[in-house]
Amino acid sequence: MPDIGFVNDRFLPLEEATVSVEDRGFQFGDGIYEVIRTYHGQPFQLDAHLARLERSAKAVELPLPWSIQQWVTYIRDGITRSGYPESKVYLQLTRGVAPRDHVFPSAARPTAVMTVREMKPMDPALQASGVSVITMDDWRWGRCDIKSVNLLPNVLARQKAKQTGAFEAVFIRSGRVTEGAVSNVMIVKAGLVLTAPEGEQILSGVTRTIVLELTKKEGLSVEERFVSLDDLQRADEIFLTGTTVEVLPVVRVDGKAIGPGGSGKPGPVTLKVQAAFQRFVG
Ligand code: PLP
Repeated sequence: MPDIGFVNDRFLPLEEATVSVEDRGFQFGDGIYEVIRTYHGQPFQLDAHLARLERSAKAVELPLPWSIQQWVTYIRDGITRSGYPESKVYLQLTRGVAPRDHVFPSAARPTAVMTVREMKPMDPALQASGVSVITMDDWRWGRCDIKSVNLLPNVLARQKAKQTGAFEAVFIRSGRVTEGAVSNVMIVKAGLVLTAPEGEQILSGVTRTIVLELTKKEGLSVEERFVSLDDLQRADEIFLTGTTVEVLPVVRVDGKAIGPGGSGKPGPVTLKVQAAFQRFVG
């Protein structure tokens, strides 16, 4: 089964897919991206991902080279070509190739890149047992709602998490929980599900939106408001949401056990939401 590459409307084997060293994505991180996974071979929430791509592009004044319908065609074509049972599609759009200058180039056309690789699901044992997280100062920029390729703080945070034996790093900005390096964060307090509101401090996760809808359908109450680091540490339950993590219980924060009675086990609300999500994706 091949890994698929795609550069500017041309499909090619992934190892042959290259862009110029003068690409502004490489030089400046002047670009945006999306990660889309399939379930049952179908791209999950494709419209929502492409709507976010469009929003990110608009926010950084990057023209989309094609219509949304054309993106859909390319993505579906890439998935078919890869032939994997489940695929992970990565899309990246940059301001193109031009001599290095911070100012937008007048002539460059955007570079559009896609890769399609096999989607390896998360370890079911981790999904069942839950994971550890560390907390870290959120020193990212002020527009975390834009899915920009500038991921250095996220890279460093995730590496620090790995080095300390944790799965994810949760960002704290001015004492408030924003999100994870690759996920959104939800806490449960006295039966209420709380998560940071949409806005410039978090990425509006596609999974987050679905999970909030499902949570309400399960009869649980949801509040979209910031919680403090203290709230996180004293939460009854915590879980992460995201394309790669789905709904993932958190059982330790900075080494301290979370969960009913400090059990370090996933709590009932988390398990309910996790089950609802798994039913939703089939
Ligand atoms: N927050 C950040 C910083 C992310 O990078 C991601 C996903 O990559 C998410 C949240 C979750 O977003 P989604 O559910 O759309 O994958």
